[in-house]
Amino acid sequence: KVRVRFAPSPTGPLHIGGVRTALFNYLFAKKHGGDFVLRIEDTDQNRYVEGAEDYIVNALDWCGISFDEGPSKNEKFGPYRQSERKALYKQYADELIANGKAYYAFDTAEQLDAERKGHEAEGKTFIYNWHNREKGRLVNSLVLTEAETKAKIEAGDDYVIRFKSPQDETLHLTDIIRGNMTIDTNVLDDKVLFKSDGMPTYHLANIVDDHLMEITHVIRGEEWLPSLALHQLLYDAFSWDAPKFAHLPLILKPTGKGKLSKRDGDKMGFPVFPLEYNAPDGTVSAGYKEDGYFPEAVVNFLAFLGWNPGTEQEIFSLEQLVSDFDLARVNKAGARFDPDKTKWFNHHYMQEQLDLDLAEQFKAIRPELADIDVNFIALVVGLIKERATFIHDFWELSHFFFTAPTSYDAKASKKAIKDETPAILQEVINIVTRTSEFTVQNLQAKIKDWITTNDVGFGKVMMPLRLALVGALQGPDVFDIMFMIGKAETVQRIDRFIK
Ligand code: GLU
Repeated sequence: KVRVRFAPSPTGPLHIGGVRTALFNYLFAKKHGGDFVLRIEDTDQNRYVEGAEDYIVNALDWCGISFDEGPSKNEKFGPYRQSERKALYKQYADELIANGKAYYAFDTAEQLDAERKGHEAEGKTFIYNWHNREKGRLVNSLVLTEAETKAKIEAGDDYVIRFKSPQDETLHLTDIIRGNMTIDTNVLDDKVLFKSDGMPTYHLANIVDDHLMEITHVIRGEEWLPSLALHQLLYDAFSWDAPKFAHLPLILKPTGKGKLSKRDGDKMGFPVFPLEYNAPDGTVSAGYKEDGYFPEAVVNFLAFLGWNPGTEQEIFSLEQLVSDFDLARVNKAGARFDPDKTKWFNHHYMQEQLDLDLAEQFKAIRPELADIDVNFIALVVGLIKERATFIHDFWELSHFFFTAPTSYDAKASKKAIKDETPAILQEVINIVTRTSEFTVQNLQAKIKDWITTNDVGFGKVMMPLRLALVGALQGPDVFDIMFMIGKAETVQRIDRFIK
């Protein structure tokens, strides 16, 4: 059975790249009738941020990406927070020590720094591996005797457990998206697996948990590709079957040059977080939700960051994505983030919402609408939503349905008002007053009739009429506006305009 996991570290808010990773895991799991697990990788106490886990859960929830197992949910492989699994990892580190695949190291930060600087002075990068570790400059159990090692540990010296990366081997790695790769093990660092504070590092905890949680496919961001060799070696060292790996492409800036960052969003005015984030230092980062995006739009555009269906189809619901998603159609090249396209998706999903739902949300953000019947607002929304991308665009597009214009656009006035305008609009008032059955069709028929019979010219009537009702030469159909605001208000607005 397919089992995948999303394994964020609670070090801050989840950015859209993280949501994309969660989404692709979810789609892959659901497509194959498998399980999607949420695991919180919180072994790095220094980088832990209060509230980050809640943020992650809320963000996924808003997007409709639900997990089958995770903290407080169907905990059959739990616990799902690594800090709560702490006791479990030590035995695995010990196992690697016992079979010679790992070793204790006692180097202080100063010693390591000196080594690094020494190498740099010679124009080399410092790699903590076989080449350096057995020379005796580095303090570890491969150069100390067993008794010396034991004494140091008992004396309470700080130690770490490092993986002993093999010498002179060529490692073969496979990635679903990238294909086969080979790597020379001599370029690998002996990464730290375990620290004397009793905590495993990411690498050890990650592969132990993927094994224990019976994860079949690891789908994660490209930034983890450099860790793949070590992870493969760790699976081998434990004689465990490794899961299959798929490393998703980077998300690039709108210019296509470089990785998308939070700063790009701030600079160019689009969010990079699903939900607004209030950082402990008081700064607030914009969120898609609060900026007025529909979760369907966010999911749809995220799906296209790295994946495409191979057809012209662009609109995909979450259910359609589940049925069409395929890791084989994920690119390895970076995916350019396009803020305009996200708006395009939002405009699309706006049209699919119920007018009444939109009206309720519109009412909630405009104090002017507090006393207005939501059904009336819904009718207005139906007339203007085609021109809107966000609910916060509505007022600009519809205020004249609710309040009479208090001024008239100067440029429009110059264009629309002629000497004969007052007389023409007075005639419109007469027609409107006489129209007993006040419907759009009736108004339209009567006014158009009058225009043709008297050969007045369409623009000479409709332009000033619109200006009188709206205050500008914009808005939906004039007859719709008249109908919506009603007979009395229509007459009053025209009257005020010509006096
Ligand atoms: N905790 C890692 C992260 O924050 C997980 C990487 C992985 O999926 O292996 O992204």
